Amino acid sequence: MRIAARTQNAFGCTSGPWTIWSLSDGHVDLPASSLRDPDDKPQDSRLADETVRLSVNCFLIQLASQDPALIDCGAGGSWDDTMGYLGRAFEEAGLSPASIRTLLLTHAHNDHINGLVSRDGNETFPNLNRILIPEAATATFNADASLSRFRTLLTPINHGDDVIPGVTAVALPGHAPGHTGYRLDTGEDTILICGDIVHVPARQFAHPTLTWAYDDDQATARMTRLRVLADAAATGTWLAGAHLGRPGMGQVERIGDGYRFEEAG
Ligand SMILES: [Zn+2]
Repeated sequence: MRIAARTQNAFGCTSGPWTIWSLSDGHVDLPASSLRDPDDKPQDSRLADETVRLSVNCFLIQLASQDPALIDCGAGGSWDDTMGYLGRAFEEAGLSPASIRTLLLTHAHNDHINGLVSRDGNETFPNLNRILIPEAATATFNADASLSRFRTLLTPINHGDDVIPGVTAVALPGHAPGHTGYRLDTGEDTILICGDIVHVPARQFAHPTLTWAYDDDQATARMTRLRVLADAAATGTWLAGAHLGRPGMGQVERIGDGYRFEEAG
């Protein structure tokens, strides 16, 4: 993995014939009490009044000069005004939203799908022609009336599908219906774009049994996180995550019962 470009909101690297961009949509501050022990108690009651800052990252992957694919698209104008700035990251990277024809979704929470519509109400990607979505996430997507115009673009995918050349869908259950990662094998590196398996990297790498109040099924989400981190540490797989900070890409080293996340760059 070689770093190719870095601005405040865009981080680009190359691996084999692939280019991978981490593009920031912004961030969101949430209560630290959302971090939960295995018994579903807040991790530390002394943190009750604190907030933790979550990055909101999207990833763009491109094989040589083929069409790029975008993975998740941020919050648009659907949530706090600290999010919805993916267009700025595209600009900093010298990329055009018009180049995006294929969008892959990890799940259908609004900080991952509502960037289809920009803050000013326009369609962000004028040439989009398909949205690959985990089959079990389609009901959540279709429940969002503000995105009804995109329903005809939905293409359901499942675990094990080769979704685009070089990229395989990997079920990562627990966080949300259909929650799915995308494994990219570049020939040099394996990169798992892993969605929401970790929300607070400063805490959850060192204490991976800590889960997140917004996980649909906390026990399953915890098992998935432990399995993915153990595998990434053993195999040297890169992780790229929406909420892993900036750039939110790195490798994992096992330390005792926990892990250390070594950020790219
Ligand atoms: Zn998320």
